[in-house]
Amino acid sequence: MKDCLFCKIARKEIPAALVYEDDQLVAFKDISPQAPVHLLIIPKAHCAGLADMTPEVAAAAARIPLVAAGIAADQDNLAGGWRLISNCGLDAGQTVFHLHFHLLGGRPLGGKLCQ
Ligand code: AMP
Ligand code: ZN
Repeated sequence: MKDCLFCKIARKEIPAALVYEDDQLVAFKDISPQAPVHLLIIPKAHCAGLADMTPEVAAAAARIPLVAAGIAADQDNLAGGWRLISNCGLDAGQTVFHLHFHLLGGRPLGGKLCQ
């Protein structure tokens, strides 16, 4: 999508600190990290969020946990555990409407997912 921030990152039209890329997915550092490790993993194909996936996007997104586990296995400070989440819609706190999963870790994250 032309004016989508994460599409532009996937197309390398705006800079991001990429940590992983394949033909379907990109992972990069969150610009406002909430933990020592805070990455975003996105499908390259535009999709607004979990509620809007096509079968093609769902097939690419299904690989995200495996990619996250591979990234985590390479980072010593994720040895203690990590979290993979996707916010879907305004009530969930979604602010960028291109499907993305947050990979968070590097410290104890606590047990609560809600405030
Ligand atoms: P969400 O609130 O779940 O939609 O998450 C969007 C995330 O995108 C937030 O954690 C932001 O800090 C992050 N973000 C916004 N703009 C950028 C950017 N240009 N590069 C990297 N991360 C970004
Ligand atoms: Zn997009």
